[in-house]
Amino acid sequence: MMGNAHLAFGTGSFLIATSLAGHTPGIIELAAVALGSLIPDADHPRSKIGRWLPGISHFFYYIAGGHRGVTHSALLVIPMLIFAGWLMQEHNSQLGWFSSGALQDSIYGVGYLAVLAFSFGFLSHLLGDLMTTEGLRLFWPLSLRFQPSPLRSESALLNLFAWSILLTGITLQFHNFTSSFA
Ligand SMILES: [Zn+2]
Repeated sequence: MMGNAHLAFGTGSFLIATSLAGHTPGIIELAAVALGSLIPDADHPRSKIGRWLPGISHFFYYIAGGHRGVTHSALLVIPMLIFAGWLMQEHNSQLGWFSSGALQDSIYGVGYLAVLAFSFGFLSHLLGDLMTTEGLRLFWPLSLRFQPSPLRSESALLNLFAWSILLTGITLQFHNFTSSFA
């Protein structure tokens, strides 16, 4: 997937997941999921986000393992998921997963939601890359590469898929929003 498709797929699947949980995400969550869905490609100077972060993207690309290296690996994702899981556990034991209104009113709650949204976006990026023929070296620095898909990153089919996920997410959230007034 290319940058815009990652953005559409990550944000769209987040809108779907939260609508199923009966939660309407706020602007900070949307920003966090968008950032998470792009940030792994900060390891490529010519990616959407890599162009915004020139020093960092050159560092990863030329020095720290190359494109789809550490930022696309279990080495980074597993600690992130453990942290997000621990946070959810802590939060859930006190307040439930999404006690929506109250959560979005406190700095802690907004931070909590932002971490979850960011992690969600990040995972969606890796899933999106797994849908391409270049695949992922999930156990980087090992060279074992997972390449389950024949589709190229710029494939029109992948783009269509990503944008239809976004459209579905917006539709579901809109439906939730309007039915909350019914
Ligand atoms: Zn990527």
